[in-house]
Amino acid sequence: MFIDQVEITVEAGAGGKGAATFRREKFVPRGGPSGGDGGRGGSIILEVDPGLGTLLDFRYNRRFRAADGEEGHAKKRSGRDGQDVVIRVPPGTVVTDMETGQVLADLVRPGDRVTVARGGSGGRGNLHFTSSVRQAPHFAELGEPGEKRRLRLDLKLVADVGVIGFPSVGKSSLIAAASAARPKIAEYPFTTLTPHLGLVAIGPGESFVLADMPGLIEGAHAGAGLGDRFLRHIERTLVLIHMLDVSGLSGRDPAQDFRTINMELGLRSADLAARPQVIALNKMDVCADLALVERLERELARNGWEVHRISAATHAGVKELIHAVWQRVRRARLESAAVPVGGALPQHVVIRGPSESDDRAWEVQREDGGVWIMRGKALERFVQRCDLNNEEAVRHLQHIFERTGVHRRLRELGASHGDTVRIGDSEFLFHDEDVEELAPSRRRKKREPA
Ligand code: GDP
Ligand code: MG
Repeated sequence: MFIDQVEITVEAGAGGKGAATFRREKFVPRGGPSGGDGGRGGSIILEVDPGLGTLLDFRYNRRFRAADGEEGHAKKRSGRDGQDVVIRVPPGTVVTDMETGQVLADLVRPGDRVTVARGGSGGRGNLHFTSSVRQAPHFAELGEPGEKRRLRLDLKLVADVGVIGFPSVGKSSLIAAASAARPKIAEYPFTTLTPHLGLVAIGPGESFVLADMPGLIEGAHAGAGLGDRFLRHIERTLVLIHMLDVSGLSGRDPAQDFRTINMELGLRSADLAARPQVIALNKMDVCADLALVERLERELARNGWEVHRISAATHAGVKELIHAVWQRVRRARLESAAVPVGGALPQHVVIRGPSESDDRAWEVQREDGGVWIMRGKALERFVQRCDLNNEEAVRHLQHIFERTGVHRRLRELGASHGDTVRIGDSEFLFHDEDVEELAPSRRRKKREPA
């Protein structure tokens, strides 16, 4: 199978910082906290677009980043969320996380979506941190960073357009003239019949696959196996380009060729014979008898065929032909996309959703260097959101450590005064005293710049 393959990097937006502001009222000396929450960072979403047939659009754009959430505002106003970035992919795109090798999604139907990088939550404003003993919290949470992933997209290419015609009429030449890129070619089952594939870019988000289909005549009586394989390949095309050599130099009779090829098609499959065809009269650059071309053109047109004069060698007329073919491909794709496939509701493929209980679990481990490592989603998030430069915020964090039993567990395991405790990207010193047990070191790692 031919595989179109591309590697991309996706980075969701970070959550905005919560605000630590206080109400100001004319006759009230000190108002209560009024800091709003930070906005959520934008996520990166892949969505199937039935108009796409290749991954050509990723040739130039392989890094995607969603906007950060806005910081919270005073007067209890939340910051705006960062906008999601929706990346359109063709049906049949398989998404793999390059780090883990895990397949995240197999996007098949129009509208299928998957969130591949989730935006960070916004930090909560100081509004949330009042308690009976703390009525004026001078701190708010930081936003969480957005997820970042390297992904591989794989697409099994299905030829949208087949080029048929007698040997040497110029099929391969047309593919070369029309195509923009060669796909990465993986193992391909046809050894005797090797269609040449071309990817044709029409514009942003508009592309199709063009395949040279030799073997209709050459392989006609070469055995059932060959014919079957050829059929299977050509049967999935939406449109055929039927090429005729009108140079008059090869001794061929194009009108006769046209009938012969169509008869062969009809013998193999009535379905194929009914496939829309666009006729390309090739080798116009060396055409010896224009009157013959005009006669052929008239006769074909009278029978309802769409005819184009081209030269695959000089590229004359190729652009117009490709555009005409594209119109038909687009129409056929939309028609096939409109047919509901089992339920037809666009589905959102969820790649992972840890339950609440998983989130709250945590564990402590001592690493070789004597550093205590705390692991746990919820705990790590708390630390990540804590503004470690703010004393009050750190005290709040200590309360959480106390409440969740982190301190007790460390003591039980034999942590001693001055030991380093690492949680996520931050490091703390363990103080084995009654009141202040964990004081932050200044070693919080900086977040990577975008
Ligand atoms: P295929 O067997 O149908 O794939 O045909 P090819 O693309 O291999 O072309 C057969 C021969 O015709 C080659 O020598 C090409 O250079 C030549 N040819 C193809 N298209 C044209 C054309 O438009 N003008 C001229 N002068 N020669 C062409
Ligand atoms: Mg060829």
